[in-house]
Amino acid sequence: MGETLKRKLVVSSTRPPDLENRPTNDTLGWDKDSAKGELAKVIGEMAFIQHRLLAEAKQSLLIVLQGRDASGKDGLVRHVMTGMNPAGVRVVNFKVPAGVERMHDYLWRVHAACPARGEVGVWNRSHYEDILVPRVKNLVSEDVWTRRYRHVRDFEQMLVDEGTTILKFYLHVSHEVQRQRLQKRVDNPESAWKHDPSDLSDRELWPKYSEAYTDVLAQTSRPAVPWFVVPADFKWVRDLAVAKIVLETLRTMNPQLPKPDKSMKGIVVV
Ligand code: ADP
Repeated sequence: MGETLKRKLVVSSTRPPDLENRPTNDTLGWDKDSAKGELAKVIGEMAFIQHRLLAEAKQSLLIVLQGRDASGKDGLVRHVMTGMNPAGVRVVNFKVPAGVERMHDYLWRVHAACPARGEVGVWNRSHYEDILVPRVKNLVSEDVWTRRYRHVRDFEQMLVDEGTTILKFYLHVSHEVQRQRLQKRVDNPESAWKHDPSDLSDRELWPKYSEAYTDVLAQTSRPAVPWFVVPADFKWVRDLAVAKIVLETLRTMNPQLPKPDKSMKGIVVV
């Protein structure tokens, strides 16, 4: 089941991602009523395997979340990732680089944030901002952001070689759904604080971001380090799709509990 879903949502390394023809409102053949129970089941199994991952302490899982403002990155972390044992999960929110981060190369802070063996890393934005933002906002010359594709591919391959499994999710929302969510955010006193004027200026750059995301997905989706385009107009579809792919991946990683020391056999605790 998870394998079929992966095949449906993955970005091929040989064909263009064709973002404009991928529906943002796909329900993937699921229905909302049963999705909630299904999600709870999937999260339960994720947590079960994550317990083994942490105990085994040999491999790591890195989950990269990218998407436009209000595409649901925070919601996904809250609804799906919190189902795992927080002792083994590291959520990192990447902001505009500041202070000491600006004194180093752009991958410096990214490498430092990588999950340790046994951990699951969840990145809310990532090193991909270092390609998208400078390109869309003309902050550096084209040769600077284009050579970053190569850096990023090599960097990710190094992490894979050293024991990290990487999943990258692009949360795909429509222009209209983003409008509704940003409006709701401003109108609701509980969420108005989240409003950032840059969300509106970024919205004006919608076509430029589409172009930039299309290239990022095409240039950096590889069989060993794939991008998945997740239809994200419906929150329940987004959550279930990501959870199922994470679960399928954890199953394949198949972490094992460490074997108890033989000498402990017969020990009676009094
Ligand atoms: P979010 O919008 O993800 O909820 P923030 O409001 O703190 O969180 O926004 C983070 C901002 O930081 C975004 O506008 C994002 O584009 C920006 N950002 C993150 N990483 C970088 C980077 N490497 N270069 C430029 N901007 C970045």
